[in-house]
Amino acid sequence: MTASLSPAARRAKDRPSPLTTGHATVVRTERLTPGVQRIVFSGPDLARLPDEEPGEIITLIWPADGADRPTLPTDGWRYAPGTPDQHWRNYTVRDHVADGPDGPLLTVDFVLHGDHGFCARWAAAARPGDVLGFAGPRIHFYAEPDADWTLLVGDETGLPSIAATLERLPSGHPTLAFVEVADAAELQELSTEADLVIEWVTRDGEPAGRSRRLEQAVRAASLPTGTPKVWVAGESLAVRGIREHLKGERGLPIGPQQAIGYWKHRDTPDDVE
Ligand SMILES: Cc1cc2nc3c(=O)[nH]c(=O)nc-3n(C[C@H](O)[C@H](O)[C@H](O)COP(=O)(O)OP(=O)(O)OC[C@H]3O[C@@H](n4cnc5c(N)ncnc54)[C@H](O)[C@@H]3O)c2cc1C
Repeated sequence: MTASLSPAARRAKDRPSPLTTGHATVVRTERLTPGVQRIVFSGPDLARLPDEEPGEIITLIWPADGADRPTLPTDGWRYAPGTPDQHWRNYTVRDHVADGPDGPLLTVDFVLHGDHGFCARWAAAARPGDVLGFAGPRIHFYAEPDADWTLLVGDETGLPSIAATLERLPSGHPTLAFVEVADAAELQELSTEADLVIEWVTRDGEPAGRSRRLEQAVRAASLPTGTPKVWVAGESLAVRGIREHLKGERGLPIGPQQAIGYWKHRDTPDDVE
């Protein structure tokens, strides 16, 4: 790993967790691709999210059965005694505007992975006026100004962070990205000033989380020389394969925060992070 963290990452190391909590109201939804629902939230509490690194982690909290609004944690991540069970999951800040003409806005891209997922089901049916809770954010990708080049690898759950990161990489920065999606209809237009070479890997009928095509694409790649900033996210077992390849055969420096399981296939063993 290169030594220098960005100022935002250094500040974030010692701050309270979660940094802030609040409520966010759906203002619009957009079917970005057949399998991704973009949801834009607004609300005054979103003004408290800081503007720091791209693709940060935000914990979203859904109301308990029968409730209109979720209860927020009050003591760190703890809830008041008697708070009913609420569904929560981590998502990515695809975009955040603290003080635009329409007030504070948060954009999250939800993968519609099927009826078996609470969040996926909710996202497919979300309507303006729906209210979620949030807690965070936490920095995940952090810029390393000394990196000679950047490697970004992810499935569709990592794509929101990859897309947000690409928008902030410096002009001309050599960048290689590998993104796995279901099929060609899931490809997205990504905007960047970096010197980007991107390889889209399609599963074409193979189940999400059980394809090894992303790892195979990374294994087959010819990587630049120099020290890279590496960032990998996706299904836990798939991420483990890629992490081990990059650390082992490629000898790349990869810390624990740089290759993260974002979700777990039901057949992935519990001890795979
Ligand atoms: C830091 C972080 C950031 C994330 N950012 C995003 C993001 O921006 N957008 C996004 O869509 N997801 C993101 N995820 C992944 C998301 O949190 C998980 O996919 C989550 O499990 C979805 O919750 P759920 O309630 O729909 O399904 P769960 O109740 O968690 O799972 C139900 C079933 O669905 C399966 N499943 C879960 N996710 C998927 C999937 N993607 N494809 C296929 N099957 C799946 C599980 O294996 C399980 O069998 C992120 C995860 C992390 C840790």
